[in-house]
Amino acid sequence: MIPFLNLHTINARFESQFKSELSSFFDKGWYVLGEQVAQFERRFAELNKDNYALGVGNGLDALTLIFKGYITLGLLNKGDEVLVPANTYIASILALVEVGLTPVLVEPNPQTYNISTETILSKITARTKAILVVHLYGQLVDMEIIEKLANDLSLLIVEDCAQSHGINACSNFTKAFSFYPSKNLGALGDGGAIVTNEEDLFKVVTQLRNYGSIEKYRHELRGVNSRLDEIQALFLNVKLPFLHEDNKNRRRIAQRYLNEIRNPMIQLPFVADIEKHVFHLFVIQTDNRNDLQAYLLGQQIETQIHYPIPPHQQEAFSEWSTFSFPVTEAIHQRVLSLPMSPVLTDEEVTKIISVINAY
Ligand SMILES: *Cc1c(COP(=O)(O)O)cnc(C)c1O
Repeated sequence: MIPFLNLHTINARFESQFKSELSSFFDKGWYVLGEQVAQFERRFAELNKDNYALGVGNGLDALTLIFKGYITLGLLNKGDEVLVPANTYIASILALVEVGLTPVLVEPNPQTYNISTETILSKITARTKAILVVHLYGQLVDMEIIEKLANDLSLLIVEDCAQSHGINACSNFTKAFSFYPSKNLGALGDGGAIVTNEEDLFKVVTQLRNYGSIEKYRHELRGVNSRLDEIQALFLNVKLPFLHEDNKNRRRIAQRYLNEIRNPMIQLPFVADIEKHVFHLFVIQTDNRNDLQAYLLGQQIETQIHYPIPPHQQEAFSEWSTFSFPVTEAIHQRVLSLPMSPVLTDEEVTKIISVINAY
């Protein structure tokens, strides 16, 4: 069986280094916000070519704290409208709702799956104050266009980079990352980070993640407890130097899929520039998605669907059940994610390609 994603194999590559680092972790006896988190924050800021990085509990908290931070600073207000792609993972939307902002769902470009200028312009109102862009499946949104729009319309931009580790070093906007185990940079549990160039925002989110405290037992803000765990930071410090190499491997596999899959029933993903894609997922489309998935499973190839139900059709947002987003809905019915990971072997890729071509 070729699994969709073998997390054990991914992390087994680092096991001996994990073990030696863990033995000094046990010796130290410092468990929360210690040297490992501080080191990871420095290195992750550097990797993104931004000034500050802050470790938090998970990707959803990274997003939530960024927006809570902008509200605290008075740059956003409750009730403000924030544009967000209608086909994103639900976490992007939950973060906005959590802090009292109003998500305005925007259809993606059907080729890139990402938000586009045309779709943005169609949804702008006087209440629009921000755009939450999502680099979905690992493909970078065209940030030059977004930056120009943001300047023209005076909008705040936040990037959901939960699927795009390693290619976000080109924009000046505040970014949210997740280190959920399956992400391109994954911990061995939950983790997340906020990356920013804005000193004011950095100061506020630093307080908010730790009970709103400005110093020990002095609380200036009503914060939460959302800190990157020291032991997860240790794992991330070991894995971080291999991120670019892992992404290169993902690209190499994607390039083979793009070159060698030839089946008129299958639509391959549109890739504007392979260097601006880290292939968190390799997502194809077909009219016979469920049938193709069953066929592949019968041939010992596991696939997944990202995602089967769009946010506006989720029970959690029953008030949106009458909304119609034809592009988003078609995507959710047609997409299928092929196995993709830096530890997929050439033989496995060859088998996946020939089985799909024989469909
Ligand atoms: C994974 C993910 C998140 C949430 O990250 P968690 O660490 O699971 O909270 C947010 N947005 C997107 C696009 C994601 O893929």
